[in-house]
Amino acid sequence: MNKQKTDLKNLTLPALEQFLQGQGKERFRALQVFKWLYQQDAHGFEEMTNISKALRKELDETAFISNLEPEAVEQGSDGTRKYLFPLADGTSVESVLIPIEGRNTLCISSQVGCAMACEFCLTGSFKLTRNLTTAEIVNQIMAVRRDLIRNPPALTLDIPVTGDDEEDDDQPESPAAIRNIVLMGMGEPLHNLDNVIPAIQIMIDGNGLQLSNRRVTVSTCGLVPEMGRLGREIPNVNLAVSLNATTDELRDRIMPVNRSYPLRELLKACKEFPLPGRRKVTFEYVMLGGVNDTLDDAKRLLKLISDIPNKVNLIPFNEHEGCGFKAPTRAAIDAFHKYLIDRHVTVITRDSRGGDISAACGQLKGKLEKKSVA
Ligand code: SAH
Repeated sequence: MNKQKTDLKNLTLPALEQFLQGQGKERFRALQVFKWLYQQDAHGFEEMTNISKALRKELDETAFISNLEPEAVEQGSDGTRKYLFPLADGTSVESVLIPIEGRNTLCISSQVGCAMACEFCLTGSFKLTRNLTTAEIVNQIMAVRRDLIRNPPALTLDIPVTGDDEEDDDQPESPAAIRNIVLMGMGEPLHNLDNVIPAIQIMIDGNGLQLSNRRVTVSTCGLVPEMGRLGREIPNVNLAVSLNATTDELRDRIMPVNRSYPLRELLKACKEFPLPGRRKVTFEYVMLGGVNDTLDDAKRLLKLISDIPNKVNLIPFNEHEGCGFKAPTRAAIDAFHKYLIDRHVTVITRDSRGGDISAACGQLKGKLEKKSVA
């Protein structure tokens, strides 16, 4: 029924202006509608009371406002919340809210499944079903915001995270606010740039979701040409790169994308990525027990990234069924971490947040089996 209608949440403000101008409407109407969508969280045109009834009716005939409602929200013992969002076509995706020192980071998905086929990743084992639309990406944020208002998190006394947040210079904020967005959920965001770029534009628009571009991070397995495009089109976004291996031999094996864009090209693209000021590229490094977790790996890692402004996220592999890899030992993690810290690298070792609700890194899978089981 909505087939020919336009989902307004697929449109950036300039695109909405064009859409309305195409219907002979004044330009300022777009700003009014945009604010209704993102600042008032309007669910229907009848709510837009500063717009004439005639125009609201017209809008209703040509457009619609989509939304996501979680089918399930699971809360972990550490305050992490996992949201399962059913989508219109029967597929679903997950988002994870991670409170750190009372500040919320939301990890969102960009695709249903993933085509990158990284050997250690659960989502990767499901192949790509489809790209998320721009609306489905921004609606994950809007739905979680709503949930945080309805069910504000209790204030937690977290152990401070040291070293990571060098830009941590502003006022305390409400526990219901979302501070950081990371595109690290299901999917490869750079494989869906046509929808991810407008979604980020809506996130950082001062009339849209009003997030700071300093607080949006796109994580990629290393699609080099798309890294260039992202940097050109949204120059202030943060970049995270899932490195995960320090030789082409190993990376070719565990991350097939490396066969197209080997380490040398990937690191060149990182170096050329337009990072403003003192910001750094985040290198994610999933530690696979006995595979890439030795001090020789740490040494090579340091060498690879040393001429790029960097910080490192060590992620101990989260085991999942049917995957042969093992988590690293505590000793291996500590030694790797110490090697880098001792050489003045900013390192965070991610604890397994959300582990008790399968919301930890790489454990998201949505309900991709839904269709085949039904
Ligand atoms: N496709 C993007 C973003 C999604 S994956 C990317 O590759 O960056 C987000 C992070 O989770 C990546 O760093 C990935 O290497 C990591 N990851 C995937 N599976 C994991 C697992 N089982 N345990 C720990 N980290 C995992």
